Amino acid sequence: MSSNGNTKHVKVLVLGSGPAGYAAALYAARAELQPVVLTGMQLGGQAALTYTIENYPAFPEGVGGAQLGELFQKQAEHFGALTEFDLANAVDLSQRPFKVTTDSGEYLAEALIVGTGASPNHLNIAGEVELTGRGVSYCATCDGWFFKDKKVVVVGGGDSALEEGLFITRYASSVTIVHRRDEFRASPILQHRAKDHPKVHFILDTIVTEVIGTDKLEAVKLKNVKTGDETILETDGLFIFIGHTPNTQMFKGQLDMSELGYIQVNEKMETNVPGVFAAGEAADPHFRQVVTSAGMGAAAAIQATRFLEAGSDHG
Ligand code: NAP
Repeated sequence: MSSNGNTKHVKVLVLGSGPAGYAAALYAARAELQPVVLTGMQLGGQAALTYTIENYPAFPEGVGGAQLGELFQKQAEHFGALTEFDLANAVDLSQRPFKVTTDSGEYLAEALIVGTGASPNHLNIAGEVELTGRGVSYCATCDGWFFKDKKVVVVGGGDSALEEGLFITRYASSVTIVHRRDEFRASPILQHRAKDHPKVHFILDTIVTEVIGTDKLEAVKLKNVKTGDETILETDGLFIFIGHTPNTQMFKGQLDMSELGYIQVNEKMETNVPGVFAAGEAADPHFRQVVTSAGMGAAAAIQATRFLEAGSDHG
């Protein structure tokens, strides 16, 4: 890395410090490209907010999300990757080196690997924003502890809702999972665990239409989508796990993406801009697993290395 004032010139810049970002950094570092990883808002990405990861290979007993994130980082740094606690705000991909403007300055990158991940979706209902942090949460690992011996509602029917709901049973006296259908998207193993758990209850075919409370959450308004019946359910906590939106807004108009905002990549993790690669959930609407994100990150870095070795004409 060379630096001129607040502008740093790097061979490979990695945006994001989740499994995709650090796997890319590991491979780029071993190719002696001295990658710089901009952490983004959450060091370790979403995986680091997961209490236990049971399906990352080579950890038969599971591994803590934060612990796995630290291991990813340590391994990449061991080979020369540099971590910067910084957030990219804007990119100019119209020419190389690519310009990335961050909270602290500016980077010029010969190759860019986008691993910006995704953020949790909101229900967008009355009271949700006002009571976030006052009973409403999107992260069980972060906030579960605050609900010791309290009643909690979890929204969603995917792996996140059931896995995080089960995690909250460590603290809460009861966990009521509210799902808009009567079938779950979550894997069978999680469905069985949740259905067998004495603290877990289900309210199906139902949506949450309002979050009620003044200084703190007091109740949620529910509506049965089949009968139209509305009820009020008192609760101390509301955890919302209804999917994610990729963090790709700053690339709009520069990188090709799907309607939902996932960056389009080919099998080599190449985007439409030669020299820009994408990996992990920012580019993956299908799998969204730690292991697949890490694999994509590795592939992106291998291809970035080939791109730089071949010179700027390589596409
Ligand atoms: P997801 O699989 O997209 O599930 C989102 C859930 O929220 C669905 O049940 C959906 O209902 C519901 N939903 C969406 N919008 C809603 C709304 N406006 N109101 C009410 N409900 C709404 O998301 P995820 O659970 O976060 O999982 C994301 C990815 O990560 C998946 O690929 C998942 O397999 C993976 N993941 C894996 C693990 C694991 O392997 N242990 C753990 C966590 C996540 P419908 O079903 O009706 O659409």
